[in-house]
Amino acid sequence: MCSKCTVSCMEHLKTLQGAIAYFSDPQRAFDAAVRFRWPGGDVTCPRCSEAKHSFIKTRRIWFCYVCKKQFTVKVGTIMEDSPLGLDKWMTALWLLANCKNGISSYELGRALGVRQNSAWFMLHRIREAMKDDPRFKFGGADGGEVESDETFVGARGKNMHKDKKLRLQQLRGQERRGDIYLGKTAVMGMLDRDLRQVRCKVIPNTRRDTLQNLILKHVHGGSNVYTDQASGYDGLAKEFAHQIVNHMERYVDGRVHTNGLENFWSLLKRTLRGTYVAVEPFHLDRYVDEQVFRFNNRATKDNPLNDEDRFAFLMSKVADKRLTYATLTGKDADALHHPAADAGQEEPF
Ligand SMILES: [Zn+2]
Repeated sequence: MCSKCTVSCMEHLKTLQGAIAYFSDPQRAFDAAVRFRWPGGDVTCPRCSEAKHSFIKTRRIWFCYVCKKQFTVKVGTIMEDSPLGLDKWMTALWLLANCKNGISSYELGRALGVRQNSAWFMLHRIREAMKDDPRFKFGGADGGEVESDETFVGARGKNMHKDKKLRLQQLRGQERRGDIYLGKTAVMGMLDRDLRQVRCKVIPNTRRDTLQNLILKHVHGGSNVYTDQASGYDGLAKEFAHQIVNHMERYVDGRVHTNGLENFWSLLKRTLRGTYVAVEPFHLDRYVDEQVFRFNNRATKDNPLNDEDRFAFLMSKVADKRLTYATLTGKDADALHHPAADAGQEEPF
């Protein structure tokens, strides 16, 4: 069996249809989930990490002799406590890993035959697994090139009621001090040109300390850092080979541009506008994580990833992460199972 197999080398999953058919068999879905969870084959208790247990085959659960409790393959993963089967989870994971513009909770709910509210919770838990876990810095003092840029996400004037639009414009006129855009949320991104990878974060403002602390955290000192003329980047030349392209004059100045990030912003905005429509700033970080996951795992000439590879990579990230309904919404989980929970709920909150 090869290292990145979901199933086995004899029967690679190529399509969504293939994945659904394969995982519709509970035993096959279970076996695959176990392989992802414990790649070496040694099942350990998610609570005490011990391997002293017995397996109850008929129920597909283990009994741990140390903590005297049962556990399933879902315990200690984003799927813990979910009443939905692995077949539904695997399909949802496949879809979010591979649909270029994401998938709304309405679409997923219909596709899986689950309520929209449950699908919404599922998707957010999958985004939790998608979250990047950066272990190295971008760029490098030997000529590494990094783009840095910010964008603003929020309600578009076009879809807004006239009064509200006018009010917002007036407020913006009064209170916009170069770093606050009312009704919009700032997102900062960095792109490593060699790796063709991005890192992104929702930020409270675009002030100098906010932007530069992130660059210091994620970029090697001495790297070439390309930005626009925003004042938040003033003084960056102390630590980096900082070069500016003045967007008032031109967008590209030789190698100095932020077009890689502009491309990422347009993908992000297409997903937010086209699929998710109205994202609350509180949840925006998670939608950004989702887009970053697909961008950083897209097929390139040097790295020809396919749908199964992306799915397998995502499955390898579901363990040791949890997102409870209370954390996500501030509400008790009972609200999720209440029939009225769906009523009047906007996508995605
Ligand atoms: Zn245990």
